[in-house]
Amino acid sequence: MAKDGTTKKAPATRKCPVCGNESWRIVYGMVMRETVEQYPKAEFAGCVVMDEQRIYPATGHVEWGLPKWACQNSECRHRWW
Ligand SMILES: [Zn+2]
Repeated sequence: MAKDGTTKKAPATRKCPVCGNESWRIVYGMVMRETVEQYPKAEFAGCVVMDEQRIYPATGHVEWGLPKWACQNSECRHRWW
């Protein structure tokens, strides 16, 4: 069996719903160096988990949640889930 039988994973990105810029997945918790190298298009938030507040547009209710995506546009920095 070939040792370097690596399949190239396309980095999962999404479009920011606010500005349309590329957004990266936020990864929480302790992360190994290999994981960071494996996912160059991810934000590593470490162990500090902070809930963020949003107003859900459909209901107008305030919700708390853990953002999963971070906009990479430095003027936007929108985070959502
Ligand atoms: Zn954005």
